[in-house]
Amino acid sequence: KRHEVPVSVHGIDPDFVDRRAIDVVKTLQDKGYEAYIVGGAVRDLLLGLKPKDFDVATNATPEQVKSLFRRAFIIGRRFRIVHVVFGRGRENEVIEVTTFRAYLDNQAAEKISGNEKTSRQALAGVQHAVDESGRVLRDNVWGSMQEDAARRDFSINAMYYDPRSQIVVDYHHGIEDAQKHMIRMIGDPVARYREDPVRMLRAIRFSAKLNRLGFKLGTKTAQPLTELRPLLEDIPPSRMFDEMLKLLQTGHAVASIAQLQALHLDKGIYPLLDLIVERADWPLVALALQDTDRRVAEGKSVAPSFLLACVLWDDVQRVWEREQARGEHPNPALSNAINEVFDRRVGDVSGRGKLAADIREIWMLQPRFERRTGKAPISMVEQPRFRAGLDFLRLRGRSGETIAELAQWWETFSLAHDEERADMLEHAR
Ligand code: ATP
Ligand code: MG
Repeated sequence: KRHEVPVSVHGIDPDFVDRRAIDVVKTLQDKGYEAYIVGGAVRDLLLGLKPKDFDVATNATPEQVKSLFRRAFIIGRRFRIVHVVFGRGRENEVIEVTTFRAYLDNQAAEKISGNEKTSRQALAGVQHAVDESGRVLRDNVWGSMQEDAARRDFSINAMYYDPRSQIVVDYHHGIEDAQKHMIRMIGDPVARYREDPVRMLRAIRFSAKLNRLGFKLGTKTAQPLTELRPLLEDIPPSRMFDEMLKLLQTGHAVASIAQLQALHLDKGIYPLLDLIVERADWPLVALALQDTDRRVAEGKSVAPSFLLACVLWDDVQRVWEREQARGEHPNPALSNAINEVFDRRVGDVSGRGKLAADIREIWMLQPRFERRTGKAPISMVEQPRFRAGLDFLRLRGRSGETIAELAQWWETFSLAHDEERADMLEHAR
C-alpha cells in the first residue's frame, strides 16, 4: 500500500539533498517520467546522516535516461544502470539512475528463464544484454514503482523522495520502522535471503552502521541468519570480496565484526573474511580496523590494500623466513612469499592486479625502513608508495612489533630539508 508522507512527518531538510540529484530528478520529471531519490540516501537523510551517494529511480529506460544528459553512460552487466556525471577531476560526482525493476518470485523467474531459450525476443521488458541464469534475469525485468519497492531489501531502504513536493513515498512502513529503530526485511526474510544470500551480509552491515543510533535487526530478520549461513558458500568469491570490502571499509568495520560474532557468522562465510574476523584481536589487525573506521569518519580515503597488508603480514613474514632458511636472498625471498600468500589468501578477485601490486609495495618497503645510513633513506622518501609504507610501519610500531621511534624518525626525515637530513643520517645507527 502506497503511503505519501509529507515533510511535516518525515522532516527531511531539503538543504541536505544533493543539488545534482535534484537536477536529475527534475530533468526526468520535466520530460514526463516518474523520478525519485531512492534507497540509502533517503534512509540516511531521514536519520540525519550524511548520505554517501545519491541514487535516482525512474520509469525511463536506460536509453531514455542517457539521451537526456550530456555526460551519461550505461554501465553494468548484472543490471544496466546509467551514470550521470557532473563536474571534472577530483570534484566529479556521479548520480546513479536505475530503472524501476519488478520483483519476481522464484517460480516466475524460472518461467522466464525457461521461455528464454525458445522465444527470448518475445519477452517484452526483459533486457537482453545479460547472461543466462534465472537470477540475473529476475533482476532485469522492468516494473512499476510499487514493484520496484517490493524487490528492495529492508523497509528503511525502500523509500522514495520527491524533491519537488518533498513527499516521501513509502510502501513498506519504512518511516514507521525508522522511528522504531528497526531493520526489517521486506516480505518473508527466509525467502529473501534464499533469493540473494548477500542480503545476509547487508543485514550485518546496516545493523553495524545504525547500531550507534540504537537500531536493531527485527526478530524475524535476524533469526534465520545463523541457520542460512551455508547459502553464502554459493556466492561467487568476487562478489563476496566486494561485499566484504563494503562491510570493512564504510566506517563500521569494528561494529561489523562484533555483529558477525554475535550472530555466529564468524566462520564459514568467505575464507578471507573468516580470517579477518579470526585475527580481529591481533594488535596490528585491530589497529588497522580502528584506523579504517577513524579515517572514514574523518572523510579520508581508505584502501583495501592497507587493511589486507595488515591482515596478511604475519603469513608473509613466516613464508619469508622459510624461504630465507632455504637459502634465498632476502629480496627474492620476500617476493616469493608475497606471491604465495596472495594466492593462498586472496585468490581471484576483481582488481586483483592492482591490489596485489599495492600490497606488494607496502610490504617490500618494510625491510628498507631498517636501513638508515648512506643514500638509501633519500631514495626511500622518493618512492611513490612511501606514505602507505610509512603508515604501515607506524601501525607496526603501535602494535609493538617494531620500535615506535623508527616510524617517527622516518616521518621527521621525510619532512626535513637537506641539512637536517644529513644531520639525521649521521646520528642514525
Ligand atoms: P550505502 O549507504 O551503504 O550505499 P545503500 O542502501 O545505498 O547503502 P546500496 O548497496 O548502495 O545500499 O544499494 C542501493 C539500494 O538498492 C538499497 O538501498 C536497496 O534498496 C537496494 N538493494 C541493493 N542491494 C540489494 C539486494 N541485494 N537486494 C535487494 N535490494 C538491494
Ligand atoms: Mg548507496
